Amino acid sequence: MFIDGAFVAGEGEAEKVLNPSTGEVLVAVPEASTEQVHKAVSAAHRAFDAWSETTPMERSRLLLRLADAIEARAEEFARLESLNCGKPYARALGDEIPAIADCLRYFAGAARCVSGTVANEYLAGHTSMIRRDPVGVVGSIAPWNYPLMMAAWKTAPALAAGNTVVIKPSEQTPLTTLLLAQVAAEILPKGVLNVIAGRGATVGQPLVEHPKVAMVSLTGDVATGRKILQAASGTLKRTHLELGGKAPVIVFDDADLDAVVEGLRTFGYYNAGQDCTAACRVYAGAKIHDRLVADLSSAVKGIRMGLQDDADAEIGPLISDRQRNRVASFVERAMMAGHMEVTTGGKVRAGAGFFYEPTVIAGARQDDEIVKREVFGPVVSVTRFTDAEQAIAWANDSDYGLASSVWTQDVGRAMRVAKKLQYGCTWINTHFMLVNEMPHGGLKSSGYGKDMSMYALEDYTVARHVMVKL
Ligand code: NAD
Repeated sequence: MFIDGAFVAGEGEAEKVLNPSTGEVLVAVPEASTEQVHKAVSAAHRAFDAWSETTPMERSRLLLRLADAIEARAEEFARLESLNCGKPYARALGDEIPAIADCLRYFAGAARCVSGTVANEYLAGHTSMIRRDPVGVVGSIAPWNYPLMMAAWKTAPALAAGNTVVIKPSEQTPLTTLLLAQVAAEILPKGVLNVIAGRGATVGQPLVEHPKVAMVSLTGDVATGRKILQAASGTLKRTHLELGGKAPVIVFDDADLDAVVEGLRTFGYYNAGQDCTAACRVYAGAKIHDRLVADLSSAVKGIRMGLQDDADAEIGPLISDRQRNRVASFVERAMMAGHMEVTTGGKVRAGAGFFYEPTVIAGARQDDEIVKREVFGPVVSVTRFTDAEQAIAWANDSDYGLASSVWTQDVGRAMRVAKKLQYGCTWINTHFMLVNEMPHGGLKSSGYGKDMSMYALEDYTVARHVMVKL
């Protein structure tokens, strides 16, 4: 743990952290005791006054140093992340570390650009102004799919805004967040950032319930979001929820099919499909449907799964045996329905590690479980549609509302459909692309609250009115 600027051993039960490519135990990390959770919150609470009094310039400088320090140890971070998540080392190093450093740098700049919109005499003889002030101690709870990136998405805007943070990484992937603490220990004042490891029920729950935690930010499952809302209701905390997704991909007959296939091959299977924006629910126009299924299946067949150090590996295993069983059972149930066909994949890979073959399921119908529920694995379903209204209705007929995409060469149609989609993000002729300047977050059961962009900075501040009698 990293509590109040010091590294301490967890006093709770030890949690095994695995290498998903082999199933072997990397290390056992003792989790925080409830008393340690309380200590971390108290440390963050004590550090708040001084930290919130620092100028935006001072916070900005420290966040820039943190970005530099992560980059300076990029290989070490990427190595640890790929070891703990099973993802190819080259992807962790080439894709994730630059995005993480950029997130910190974006918020280092954004910290200096927070604006109150008005200052005026709305009542004669009185001047009103708006301030945006930090909320207080933020309890952050992160998932296992991109552990360090999620830690950056959560801590960078919170710290930039002047809050202090206690972050709990997933019990399955605590290693890079603990390394982040080691780096931050040299840069941030003590107590500003605290890391506690452990499970949701034993460590997350007391964090959420603590009366001195002013806001809870979660990226995780919908069911976890519900539990956190319940736990936070006792103390009426602010909550910021980034939950699951089931992204629809609407492909019209006039789309550039080669680009669609290339896009789906990448955006449906990146990180072995363990991505809340994964392009997993395809609606294909009637004329291109058959060719799309055929081309996609042969493209997906060529995706190379491999170990972390395999330079040609595109994807790794799933995070755990449990997650792989979950994915496999979705595919089994789809096959039992009788009208669907696995056109490639659909099998657990024999041998060590939690690998599951990249899979395409054709013939899926709107009411099928595989179309409705988040699989969080390398599985893409394809459903045929007849007209735009039907495609839009089906795309919106979902509990989720995180990400979506539309593929067509008709700009007018793309814009009309994008307008109708009830999703936090809609891409046109691409999918999955994120930039730190733009918000990421959902509607409906995908939660609320934005990561990245000025909207995240807003979420981690409160708007306040100050009035002066002249
Ligand atoms: P999860 O909900 O099981 O766990 C997320 C975190 O919540 C973990 O740190 C876990 O320990 C903690 N937790 C669990 N129960 C808790 C409780 N009662 N109180 C406090 N904390 C608790 O999710 P996961 O399996 O780690 O991640 C996968 C999920 O995350 C998927 O549903 C995925 O879609 C979602 N996700 C969403 C986004 C997004 O930006 N919207 C990004 C990545 C992942």
